[in-house]
Amino acid sequence: MNLMMKSNSDNIKKYILDIFFPNRCPFCGKVIKWNENCCEKCGEEIPFINTEHCKRCGQENCMCDEIKIHYDGCVSIVDYSGIIRDGIIRFKVDKAVNLVDVFEDRIYDRLSSMVDIGKIDVVTSVPMHKSAKRVRRYNQTDIIAKTVSNIINKPRNTRLLIKLKNNIAQHKLNSYERAKAVKGLYSSDKKCIQEVNGKVILLCDDIITTGSTLNECARILKENGAKAVYCFTIASTQLNK
Ligand SMILES: [Zn+2]
Ligand SMILES: [Zn+2]
Repeated sequence: MNLMMKSNSDNIKKYILDIFFPNRCPFCGKVIKWNENCCEKCGEEIPFINTEHCKRCGQENCMCDEIKIHYDGCVSIVDYSGIIRDGIIRFKVDKAVNLVDVFEDRIYDRLSSMVDIGKIDVVTSVPMHKSAKRVRRYNQTDIIAKTVSNIINKPRNTRLLIKLKNNIAQHKLNSYERAKAVKGLYSSDKKCIQEVNGKVILLCDDIITTGSTLNECARILKENGAKAVYCFTIASTQLNK
């Protein structure tokens, strides 16, 4: 399927869906036209990252000397502030899955500032525990992986990693506690080992804070033979923000 055909069929789907479920701004929930990604007001308030972040650890304040970073690079699109907080909550809770569409135009450029896209073999995402997924019915990181895989035209496999336990919310933990808390939470799916071994993997998540989740997932992928692991997140924040 060429890109033009794909975007036409996507547009037809969006147009028809809009008749039954009016398209809404993923940030404020206002009804918008079927072919719009967000309302004009929110569009002007998106806090795109405009400061230099370390391309390796993905952080504004580089942590590469402080902890062992298992991934090979990380980029994000926006700061986790202002309307992005509302957008991410709606994305997780209210199924505002069109949030990712807002960033479509920037994903390719952002990724190519970190990695030669041609070298990526597979796109995957940080997994959710199966009981949490049963409640939410979808994993928001799979949606990010799906959009990214379409944009860079690379296969997606969101079964490479498994989340073994439901963990406590991490937002109250410091970076040391976070790194400790993610230990033992994830594992690789042995059925997919062939798709990890020797491969360059792009791992997607919604937010990077200390990077401990991405780091643990990257560590497991590397342990199972991944040649390189690059990370992509929509938003980036720091613990003190
Ligand atoms: Zn809005
Ligand atoms: Zn760094």
